[in-house]
Amino acid sequence: MRHATRSLRVGDAPPLSEITGIRLGGKPVAEIVLHDKAGADKLPGLVAGLGGLPAVIGKGSNIIAADGDLPLVLIRQEPRDKVSFERHGAEVWAKAPAGLPLSALLNAAAAAGLGGLEGLAGIPGSVGGSVAMNAGSFGTEVGPLLRSLTVFSARTGLREIRPDAEQAEFSYRSARCLGLPFGSPAPAAGEFPVLLLLEAVFVLSESGKDRVRSRMRAFLAEKRLRQPVSAASAGCVFKNPAPDVPAGRLLEEAGMKGKALGGMRFSSLHAGFLVNEGGGSSAAALELINTAVEAVRRHSGFTLEKEVCLWVRQ
Ligand SMILES: Cc1cc2nc3c(=O)[nH]c(=O)nc-3n(C[C@H](O)[C@H](O)[C@H](O)COP(=O)(O)OP(=O)(O)OC[C@H]3O[C@@H](n4cnc5c(N)ncnc54)[C@H](O)[C@@H]3O)c2cc1C
Repeated sequence: MRHATRSLRVGDAPPLSEITGIRLGGKPVAEIVLHDKAGADKLPGLVAGLGGLPAVIGKGSNIIAADGDLPLVLIRQEPRDKVSFERHGAEVWAKAPAGLPLSALLNAAAAAGLGGLEGLAGIPGSVGGSVAMNAGSFGTEVGPLLRSLTVFSARTGLREIRPDAEQAEFSYRSARCLGLPFGSPAPAAGEFPVLLLLEAVFVLSESGKDRVRSRMRAFLAEKRLRQPVSAASAGCVFKNPAPDVPAGRLLEEAGMKGKALGGMRFSSLHAGFLVNEGGGSSAAALELINTAVEAVRRHSGFTLEKEVCLWVRQ
């Protein structure tokens, strides 16, 4: 431990292979763990003092980071706050800290009989990561459910914004706000060029505990049938090039399903998932990803775009 206050602590970072869902990635310079919003304005100064690029991480379920030493200062959140609800007529607003697991938000909503989020059941990660990636499944996406966001940037400080006031833009598996992408490491050394999400307010509606729970169970069961949910992966590697053209199908048709290299394999259950079978490396993962892009381009003419966040020099 190098430094700690009530709002944050600065310490040595664990290797990203201990955090990320795909169990890959080397060691950042240091990590800053934030416990509440009050600590946010200390981040630019601390990151500059530690000497690395700021890299915001949620639960690491959609990140593939390079092997070896990484010139990054990791910013994680371990919030003290829990989910809270406020009634506004027919709507109920659920306020959740960004560092909370998404599953904790879904469980709190289910326990209160509030519907809206059920389609997200089984998506690993944090509330913040789900907003940053505009996570979605079974026809539900995070973006349209948001009422407001509390964000921090060095330029604007801490502020609350309304997505519907065009201060945030949500598209398929990506989100920007105030003109900045959320949290990814900056491409070049800069002051503090990231946007950190600290809190999100979702608009939910009364639906009944039994109905919410049974819908969540059904979506979860469907997800387990279709995806290797318990394997070490980063979720779908590629975006679907069009709503009726799943990347997984293109990969399968191009012969990538089950294809393996150096401990990494495109899942035999769902070709869109790259799985670390143990002993994999980012170098092998990237080689397989590049092979897959080329194979799909040759087979069907589609150029696949990555859905995973690659924390690598390209
Ligand atoms: C088995 C499996 C199944 C999955 N299924 C789905 C699915 O059905 N649908 C789907 O959309 N995704 C899916 N994913 C991908 C992943 O779970 C989601 O993208 C998830 O929302 C990422 O959350 P995270 O906290 O892990 O984010 P991370 O992976 O930690 O980060 C992802 C990005 O968000 C940024 N970020 C994270 N937190 C913040 C913050 N507080 N402020 C600013 N930026 C931030 C990071 O900098 C990074 O750029 C799946 C993944 C796995 C492993």
